[in-house]
Amino acid sequence: MSRKHTVSLIPGDGIGPEVTTATRKIIDATGVKIDWEICEAGAEVFKKGLGTGVPKETVDSIIKNKVALKGPLETPIGFGEKSANVTLRKMFDTYGNIRPITEFPGVQTPYSGRGIDIVIVRENVEDLYAGIEHMQSPGVAQCLKLISRKGCEKIVRLAFEFAKSEGRKLVHCATKANIMKETEGLMKRTFEDIAKEYPDIESHHIIVDNCAHQLVKKPEQFNVIVTTNMNGDILSDLGSALIGGLGFAPGANIGDKFSIFEAVHGSAPKYAGKNSINPTAVLLSGVMMLRHLGEFEAAKMIENALLTTLAVDKILTRDILGDKGAASTTEFTDAIIRNLDKTYPGYKDRDYHPIKLPHVRNDQDFVRVHKRVVNGIDLFIETGKPVIQFAKELEAAAANSQMKLKMISNRGVKVYPSEGNTASDLTDCFSCRFVSKESHQDVKDAEIIQLLEKVEPHFRWSHIEKLNEFDGVAGYTKSHGED
Ligand code: NAP
Repeated sequence: MSRKHTVSLIPGDGIGPEVTTATRKIIDATGVKIDWEICEAGAEVFKKGLGTGVPKETVDSIIKNKVALKGPLETPIGFGEKSANVTLRKMFDTYGNIRPITEFPGVQTPYSGRGIDIVIVRENVEDLYAGIEHMQSPGVAQCLKLISRKGCEKIVRLAFEFAKSEGRKLVHCATKANIMKETEGLMKRTFEDIAKEYPDIESHHIIVDNCAHQLVKKPEQFNVIVTTNMNGDILSDLGSALIGGLGFAPGANIGDKFSIFEAVHGSAPKYAGKNSINPTAVLLSGVMMLRHLGEFEAAKMIENALLTTLAVDKILTRDILGDKGAASTTEFTDAIIRNLDKTYPGYKDRDYHPIKLPHVRNDQDFVRVHKRVVNGIDLFIETGKPVIQFAKELEAAAANSQMKLKMISNRGVKVYPSEGNTASDLTDCFSCRFVSKESHQDVKDAEIIQLLEKVEPHFRWSHIEKLNEFDGVAGYTKSHGED
């Protein structure tokens, strides 16, 4: 006998109300007892002037219920408010975004018959999506890509635990560690460390661009892919196209205390109110939610009804059939409800177990070191002067300092000293690397401040980065062309 659950339901923007209504109707028809608490978030809330797009009542409801089903929320692009989606993920620390990509019988695609059964486990709160952006000069923008060892451990462990919960035996980690050795490299190194604790699961690292290529070429070679936030965002949209499109790609945002279930797709505004959109992605997000709530039978019922609708009754929405012969959203929903007592002959009943959420220490100083040395600084300045001229001025500024100017780079390419360097398309933002004159001598803050005082009268500077060395390992990368 199933117990009663209370779930926060955010209908969302655009097609959101249609797909969440369909999902709610189908879940209710299984007989599972859910009290839905309807909550606001997104466009209408932004319009009322609330910058987060998420009102207090919605936050309180999720805090109380711990579980939410969410429709897509519109995000203003390129200006103003932050994404309410990202705000919700960060606010409730749902650090893991689990996105299954599964072939559906009856949904014809160029990949039909290849048995695509992939789950992308996307880190959900770090990376470029922390949204820490600044204009370095009027014409140069910067976004900080923050990745932590703790964040990597959490997502990698979640990926392995998720694989275990569904009896999956293969996990890939997709990163761009060949280029971003510190950030994406941290994910790769963490994955390789933690994979050793799961000897029964095969593990491989793959460079993310090749992963995209392999996903299109031979998707059936993948089972679970764990990756950083932006990689995961892009790979999961790509993945959804292999199985019929975003209308079929569900997702779950998982955290230690809260879980928010939502499709991969957005609010698809051009289809809003047209009763033509495919509700499967949100419905299957609801199925993931049911398993999370321990309602395994109802989840299985819905999956069987969906497959029967798609493959036996051949009732499909406009995204698959085009305008001719397609079922409307409500017709498709009603067909699934009618089929709730059917078993689809090819149904693969996985041996599902609840995910054992990983216990990762919650210490703020998650990684501790014995010895740290500051080898120097990268000083970011804005100038329109010729490089050779301002390099001399910076060298003069550092003349009596403990540091010397080692090199200057522009957009990561060394431009001074300029032997053999032909880069000429410069911006007005330069990174000037000052290092200790004595190698491995710790540069003190007072030295840095003194240097800044010498530089400041002649240059606009925007920020500095310390060149930290932790336990003998340099915590910074070289510029292209730097020796
Ligand atoms: P989108 O809403 O995901 O729509 C892109 C395209 O995907 C649609 O035009 C449609 O393709 C297809 N599609 C999406 N959902 C579908 C469904 N249920 N059934 C069938 N086809 C579906 O992406 P977008 O247009 O880039 O973004 C619109 C807004 O949504 C933006 O404000 C964005 O920020 C937001 N967004 C929110 C979330 C979220 O809430 N988690 C996620 C992504 C984007 P065709 O045109 O080929 O028919």
